[in-house]
Amino acid sequence: MNFDNFFVKAKEVFETAYKKTEDVVNVGKQKLDMSTLENKLGKSYETLGKLCYDVISKGEPFDPETVKPVTDDITEKLAQIEELKKEILKAKNKKMCPYCNTPVEKNSQFCNNCGKNLNTAD
Ligand SMILES: [Zn+2]
Repeated sequence: MNFDNFFVKAKEVFETAYKKTEDVVNVGKQKLDMSTLENKLGKSYETLGKLCYDVISKGEPFDPETVKPVTDDITEKLAQIEELKKEILKAKNKKMCPYCNTPVEKNSQFCNNCGKNLNTAD
């Protein structure tokens, strides 16, 4: 091996290692965002539960409009969580099977779980 090749090789190894570290950091941050979001979602469900309880315990008719801000908030957070899940899978080089929602390798042609052809999904 000549000297130039050695440096090219070393650079490649370094870049691969660096990229891997970066992925781990990204997934770490996304997991943190995920637990923050899930915490907030839990709080929203609590608020919703309390609002419902207040109405029902007073024997008043339940009007979904009164809780709409909270249910909208929950819908938004659920969507954010779904997005984040996709980002985490992408960072791990995985994707979600559209048929059974199981994480599969990004390049797989068939789902490991349900066996469906993933290339016809798009
Ligand atoms: Zn599947």
